[in-house]
This record gives sequence, structure tokens and C-alpha cells, in this order.
Amino acid sequence: MSISLSFLGAAEGVTGSRCLVEFGKNKWLIDCGLFQGPKAVRDRNREDFQPSPSRIQNIILTHAHLDHSGYLPRIFKEGYEGSIFCTDGTADLCRILLRDAAFLEEEFAKYANDTKYSNHDPAIPLFTSEDAEKAIAHIEPFSRDEWHQLAEGVCFRFLRAGHIIGASSVQLEFRTKFHSKVITFSGDIGHNRSFVLRGPQEGIETDFLVIEGTYGDRLTPRSDVLEEFSEIYRRTVERGGVLVIPAFAVGRAQEVTFMIRLLEDQGRIPVVPVVLDSPMSISAMDICLKHQEDRLPSSGRDDGSDFKPRQFEVSATTDQSMMTCMRDGPMVVISASGMLNGGRILHHLKRRLPYAKNTMLFCGYQAEGTKGRFLQENAANLEELRIHHQPVKVAAEIATITQLSAHADQEELLGWIAKMTKKPKSVVVNHGSPESQKKLAQLIQERFGIKATSASETPKVHIEL
Ligand SMILES: [Zn+2]
Repeated sequence: MSISLSFLGAAEGVTGSRCLVEFGKNKWLIDCGLFQGPKAVRDRNREDFQPSPSRIQNIILTHAHLDHSGYLPRIFKEGYEGSIFCTDGTADLCRILLRDAAFLEEEFAKYANDTKYSNHDPAIPLFTSEDAEKAIAHIEPFSRDEWHQLAEGVCFRFLRAGHIIGASSVQLEFRTKFHSKVITFSGDIGHNRSFVLRGPQEGIETDFLVIEGTYGDRLTPRSDVLEEFSEIYRRTVERGGVLVIPAFAVGRAQEVTFMIRLLEDQGRIPVVPVVLDSPMSISAMDICLKHQEDRLPSSGRDDGSDFKPRQFEVSATTDQSMMTCMRDGPMVVISASGMLNGGRILHHLKRRLPYAKNTMLFCGYQAEGTKGRFLQENAANLEELRIHHQPVKVAAEIATITQLSAHADQEELLGWIAKMTKKPKSVVVNHGSPESQKKLAQLIQERFGIKATSASETPKVHIEL
């Protein structure tokens, strides 16, 4: 008998993570992510899903980021009826993220119809709040580490991945009378450089590995991240400017507010207003505090005060967000989306980019094809950036601290494999640009003598049991 894996997404990029696992008549999906980025990529979310969703038994999620979970409401709309298995932390985050994603889809369609700004007439949301609620009702949280039965002879379990709250690698174990095989899906893997999160679990045993390769071709510099951050912070405040940080409310935002409070307490940065501009920021903070199993013991008191800079504010409503946009510096604004694909951050950019006193600081991975990547790569020579179909002058300082990304870099990914107590016989690298996947696959082969390939070259693999 054989097991087959089909990479239906995240095979040539980092979004749309969906891996179909087939074993006999069984079909399962590991992750159910949205394609994000340029329109041509996003349009893939509207293609017919193959195989028919009604033929899939269960979906297992590695974590809540929308590029891994955001297609869930749509797959229910397309006829999926099964359960969604994930950890407690992922379940908590999915509830707020999916509701928010549905709200934005509906708002965008309404805006497009009101202003006739759409090629589709009428514009139809990819999914609705009703679809999101249906998906949420099918979420079943499981504890980490223990094996749970999936089908006759097939078990699964979650192992900490250290990427965001709830994030896990997923292991599937297939067992017949004479054979057994463990397949591990890394999911997005974190590292041991976070101030808030515990690192990924080490000492894993596996026969086959699917590993993410976001930073497969890159090392993040090991600089003093607190010093680097405080230098950017200080010089922006001295100019009377606004430090704009694109970061999703879940994950990076907590890392950043924790660092600011730490630096304030150490007297290394001046105290200025820090505004978290996100409707879901309060729930995200509560979820971060609730899931101590994922947090470092040193990551703050339970009342959340360590995540709150001294002049901390939240703008939950659109009106509050607009007021934040109009205010003068010095101040800090943290807002989403993290890759400038949309959301409130674009209003802040329109307002702040034209002035040299302001700074735009990237602290997360910017996928190819996103506005974030474009701005990051062309910052030095860019005079204008188009936002909401209008040219916006770029005079602000554009900075990046790669170290703050929630992804392990090349050396950390290899280090995670090196520490496995039973190394895989074969590896597929997915979730990265094709070059990044290929580079990591090549290094895995060279360093460990393990057969490795990339999902961009081998979108379907068969594993003999
Ligand atoms: Zn992620």
C-alpha cells in the first residue's frame, strides 16, 4: 500500500498551504490556506477545488495564519462537511482570524459594488460570515504530543513548532500488521530567538519529512536585535516622526510591544504613544496570555502588563484608526496587514510615507509579489508607491530587521533536522520560492545524505508503506 502527498498550494510560493494526503480510500488535507499576494495568485482561491471537498474526511491544521487556514470558510461553501483538527491555541486564533477575514471579504465586495470598482459585476465575497461560522463550528481542538486516531491504522499528533501561539508540526503514523511509517509536516517553524515564544520541539523521529523552506536560501544576520530596534526607534522619535510597523495583530505585534516595554523599562528608548491599530488586537493579546504552554517563562506577567508599552493605546474602531492616522509624531503605529496586501496599514502609509521624518519598519517575511516586498527591495530608488490606485511619494526611511521574522532561517531549519533522533529517509521542501526550496533541498542532501526534493519540482509524491 502506498501513501500519496499532493502539494495543492505553497508549492511555488509561501501562500495557499494545502497538502492532500491519500491512503486507500481516505483523503485528508494538511492545512487549508488562502492564496495571497497579486491578483493572479489570489484568483486561485476561486478555482474549483480538486478533489471534490465532500470526498475529504478531515482537515488538520498546523497553525492559524490565513495562508494555512484562510480557505476553510470557502471549502465549507464548496461542500466540505468534515472536522478541522488543530491545537487549542490554533482553535482560539482561528475563531478571530476567520471571522475577521469574512468581515473583510464582505466589506470589500460591498465597497466594490458601491463604487463599481471591480471587474466582477456584482462583486461576490470569496466567503461570508455564515461560511466562517460553519467552519468554526467544525473545529475540534486536541492536546499536543499525544497520538489521536484518525482512521483504522492511522494516528496523528501535534508537536510544538514555535512559530506563533498554537503552531505545531503534524505527524501522521500509518500502521499495518508488518509495517509502520511516520510522516512529519513541519508547518511553519520558529526559532529560539523570540522574546515571547518557546522554540520548536527538538529530537523528533520521522521516516519522511515535509519541511517549510521560507528562508531555505537565506541566513538572518545575528545582530543585537534590541540595539538595532532601539536605534531605529530613537532616531525616528528624535525627528519627531512616526514609526510605522506593519505586523499582524497575532504574533509579531506581541513580540514588538513586548520589546518596546522591555526597552522602556531599561531606559534605552524614550516613552512615546504606541498604538496597536487593529480591531482584533485585544482578543489576540488575551489568547497570547492564555496559552502559557507556548510562551517562554520569562515572557511576562499574566496580567499582560509586559506586553503593554507605558503609553499603550488600541484603536479598535475605524474612527479611532482614522484619528491615529491624523495624529502628529513622535509615536509608534503597529498595524496590519504585515505584507501590505491591504488593511489599515495602507492608510498609515499614505499618510506617513511622503515625509522623511517617518520610518517604515519591516519585521516579518515579505512574500514575493506583495507590496511589502516591492517597497523593501526598491526602497533606495523609489520615488512613488501606488496605494489605492494613487501615487504616494516615498520619502520616509524604510528599514528591515530580518531577525524579527517568526521563521527559522536556513541554518536553523538544518539544525532542526540535525537534532532529529530518527532522521527521515526522504524529504520534500515546500512553502518557499522555488529557488529557496531547491537550495534547502540541495543542502539537506549534501549535509545529511538524505534524498531531498522540492514541491515546486515534485508536486506529487508516493511513499511506500
Ligand atoms: Zn505562518
